[in-house]
Formats: sequence, structure tokens, C-alpha cells
Amino acid sequence: MSDSILVLNAGSSSIKFSVQTPTGPDTVRMLAVGQIEGIGTHTHFIAKSADGAVLAETRWPDGAGPANHDAALHVISEWLDGFLGDARVLAVGHRVVHGGSNYTGPVAITPAVMAKLRELVPLAPLHQPHNLAPIEAVGTRYPGVLQVACFDTSFHRGHSFAAEAFAIPYKFYEQGVRRYGFHGLSYEYVSRRLLEIAPDIAHGKVVVAHLGNGASMCAISDGASVESTMGFTALDGLAMGTRSGQLDPGVLLHLMGSLGMTVPEVTRLLYHESGLKGLSGISSDMRDLEQSADPHAAAAIDYFVYAIRKQVGALAAAMGGIDALIFTAGIGENSANVRRRVCDGLQWLGVDLDGDANDHGADVISAPGSRTRVMIVRTSEETMIALHALEAMSAEAVA
Ligand code: ADP
Repeated sequence: MSDSILVLNAGSSSIKFSVQTPTGPDTVRMLAVGQIEGIGTHTHFIAKSADGAVLAETRWPDGAGPANHDAALHVISEWLDGFLGDARVLAVGHRVVHGGSNYTGPVAITPAVMAKLRELVPLAPLHQPHNLAPIEAVGTRYPGVLQVACFDTSFHRGHSFAAEAFAIPYKFYEQGVRRYGFHGLSYEYVSRRLLEIAPDIAHGKVVVAHLGNGASMCAISDGASVESTMGFTALDGLAMGTRSGQLDPGVLLHLMGSLGMTVPEVTRLLYHESGLKGLSGISSDMRDLEQSADPHAAAAIDYFVYAIRKQVGALAAAMGGIDALIFTAGIGENSANVRRRVCDGLQWLGVDLDGDANDHGADVISAPGSRTRVMIVRTSEETMIALHALEAMSAEAVA
């Protein structure tokens, strides 16, 4: 096996990983991908090769598996040692949700950086601690190996004040209450892919719709993010699998003031019981909703599509035009139905969808004469993280 970069994406009860080997100064190839989920409960570990073949799989009886992230990382690294054989772990790239207002790009982890990243926990209390959890364990398991934190927020750090502020007293902006934007690693990857496959578009005005379980959209002008539908947290903007998306703050006042709901109750409601799941009462999964005959499923999809279409208009306005609309992530890459329904209302913006190309999931799904090009670009946040780790390795080698 070849020397490789390990990419880790740790959530509250899971660690997703991928193994990527450098193939050039700024290219990598995925060798394996996997995850350990249900940490502390019904734990399941799986590793697959790049072509989807199962390389290893373990299911533990309830409570008998790894009890925490340290133990879970041990399972991954034991498997990795066998997988890599004599080859080395060159670097470890971590997905970290929040880089605050200072980190405009990835950063090599040092004790001082870790201290700064811990200070950001109050800005993302549900995600940041889990993202940081494996870093120390990796330091023990692979002493001296370069670790790099890659942030979901960095790509958006060039936003104007108007795009970044809330119109509440300025002191809150100074305290960090800002619209940070998220999914930045996905948008950065899509921007890089566009440079390769459609350079004219990459230098133009592009709206990217990242539609997965989490969903957001980004306005990208000449490769730079200028606006995002996500704000202070990853709750804002589009309705998602289980998250509410945009909400009048008065609703919160009502829930907590008039209805007496507590902060944990509202948190649970907005993060886990809303969005497609809350509206349909059926499922957070778009495939389930598309297969359902229940009118609530149809209403949830209507809401989802309507919010996307509204945001295409808003983001085009933020850039003063639009040259391309890009769909990415699970729903964006796979649901011809959602793409068609979004585009059906966008003829006024120069969108002319090619129905056949859309049904077949082609790379370009707009008709040849369409003023606005519509494309599907498959995202890969883990590739972006591996590329950042590779860049950090070169920077270290030069220093
Ligand atoms: P995550 O944000 O967890 O990475 P994904 O990007 O994998 O999520 O997207 C998951 C979403 O993609 C789910 O709503 C799922 O139903 C949807 N999806 C995946 N494949 C299809 C498909 N063929 N048709 C419609 N929706 C799909």
C-alpha cells in the first residue's frame, strides 16, 4: 500500500474516515473510506475500498463496542495499520466545523491552535467538541505526524460586512455573533472542480446548492464566496433533513416565552425534529418522501424546492447576476425530481433545463442555448481535506 493521508470527520457518535494517497503535488486518490457509528451504543465499523467493496466490518453487541472517541479511533487505527502494511500515515486532516472569524484557511495543529479552537466551542457547542475529540488521540497514536484542521467556515471569510452582520447592536458583532456560513469545504471543492471542467464558469457568477441531509447554498463570484444561506449556525437558510432552516426569531420568543419551552427542548426541535422530517411527519430522507403518496410528503418537498428557488434569486442578486447553477451533495446529485422542480421556476433567470440530461444525471443539464448553465458536480469534502493536508505538508517541508 502507498503512504497516505488519513481524513477524519468526527460527529457526536460517529467518526467518518477516508484514506487518500498523494498522486502529485496537488492531487490525491482515495484508497478507502469508512466509518464507525453508534459509538457508546450499537457500534458498527465498516471500511470499504474506493470501488465500494467491503474491506472490514464489525458489529458489537449493545454496549460492548468502543465506549468513546478515543476507543473508536483505536479501532480505526488498528484496521489502518493492517491496511497500510509498511506504508506510513503522512498526515491527518480533520474536519472542524468552526474556525471563527480568524481562520481563513486550514491550519496545522499545535497546542496554541487547539486552545484557540476550544475557545470557539460556544459558537458550535453541538459539533466543535466532537470534531476536536480525536485530535489528541491521534497525537498519541501517531506521534509527530502533522495534523491539519480544515474548517467549514473558512471559505466564507471574505464576505462583506453587510453579508456577515446581523442588524442587532454592533457589540454583538464584535463578540462574534456573525453570519459565518458553513459547508465551505464542499464549496471550495466544487469551485476547484469547476476550474478543471468549466473554467469559464469558475471565473463567473455561480450559485451552488449543496443539498444533503444538511443543506445550504452559496454565491461564488470568480471563485470567492460572497454570500451563504447559512448564518451564525448551520440552522439557517434552507429547510434540511431535520433542521428548520430560516425562522422568524419571533417564533423562538413564542416557543420559549408563551409556550415555556426550554433551551434544550427548542434545540432538539430545531436541529432534530424540523425540516423535511417535521413538515412531512414521515422521514428526513428525500428518497422516502419521493416514494411516498402521502400529501404531507409532497408538501415537504414543495417547501424544500420553493426555499431553494427563492435563494437562487437572492444569491444571484447578491452577485449582480448568475452564469451557472450547480447542484451537489446527496439530493443535488441524485434527485432529478428536485433539480427539475427548482429549475422549473427559474426561466426568468435564463435557466433552460434539458429534461433528458437531467433525468440521466449528466454533468451539464441545461439545454445548449440556456443563458444560465446548470450542472451537477459531485462534491467530496474528504478530498478537499486531504488536499489541504497535502498543501500543509509541502509548506512544512519548505519551512
Ligand atoms: P450528508 O449531509 O449526511 O452528507 P448526503 O449528502 O449523503 O448527506 O445526502 C443525503 C440525502 O440525499 C438524503 O435526503 C437522501 O435521501 C438523498 N438522496 C440520496 N440519493 C438519492 C436519490 N437517488 N434520490 C433522491 N434523494 C437521494
